[in-house]
Amino acid sequence: MITLRSRDEIALIRKAGHVVRGVLAGMEKEIRPGITTRELDDIAIGIINANDAQPAFKGYRGFPASICTSINEVVVHGIPSRRVLKEGDIISIDVGVKLKGYFADGASTFAVGRISPEAKELIETTRRALTKGITMATPKNRLSDISHTIQTYAEQEGFSVVRAFVGHGIGAKMHEAPEIPNFGKPNRGIRLEPGMVLAIEPMINAGGYEVKILDDGWTAVTKDGSWSAHFEHTIAVCAADPEVLTG
Ligand code: MG
Repeated sequence: MITLRSRDEIALIRKAGHVVRGVLAGMEKEIRPGITTRELDDIAIGIINANDAQPAFKGYRGFPASICTSINEVVVHGIPSRRVLKEGDIISIDVGVKLKGYFADGASTFAVGRISPEAKELIETTRRALTKGITMATPKNRLSDISHTIQTYAEQEGFSVVRAFVGHGIGAKMHEAPEIPNFGKPNRGIRLEPGMVLAIEPMINAGGYEVKILDDGWTAVTKDGSWSAHFEHTIAVCAADPEVLTG
């Protein structure tokens, strides 16, 4: 059952989305060699609090922080710690925000100082895969047209898409129906309708698509140690083009 959101509800999700965008913009400013991921978490909490919002990840199934900080071969759900960022690392920041009862979710991968051309290509391909996926989120299409477009583009660029984690509906809860895989055949699943609010989030690996979870129960890394990037936006399906609510 996929909830269609009213104009007023979408306005509230858009407000939460502005806070997500503010956190990611703040991260972009602060990310540099020498900063720890815990310091980034503290900065994110400050931005969320200053906007009278709540961090949606903190306490979610026991997650201990307000953002996920996933470095290099970490795909998603890295936990902020005393780890210091180094020149040449890449770091994915994922943040969920609750504001007046509504949720928005977004992620970006950032370069730490100067990075390799290969890492840059991985980041740019993932960013473009998300953009291409979002373009498909119209009432002309079915859900899997988003998935198929992301997979086709990422694989054409020589990368792989993670299967173990997927995008999701969002609104009055952080994770709602439907699940939105980043792979699959076109023209399957539900037909998209105006009022659907979706968090689309390709996770793309430089090597194979398989992941494993570390002993902390959260940190998902690539099985082959290759690097991974992650971009996410919360979007609303509209009559014509989708609206990016975290953009
Ligand atoms: Mg998400």
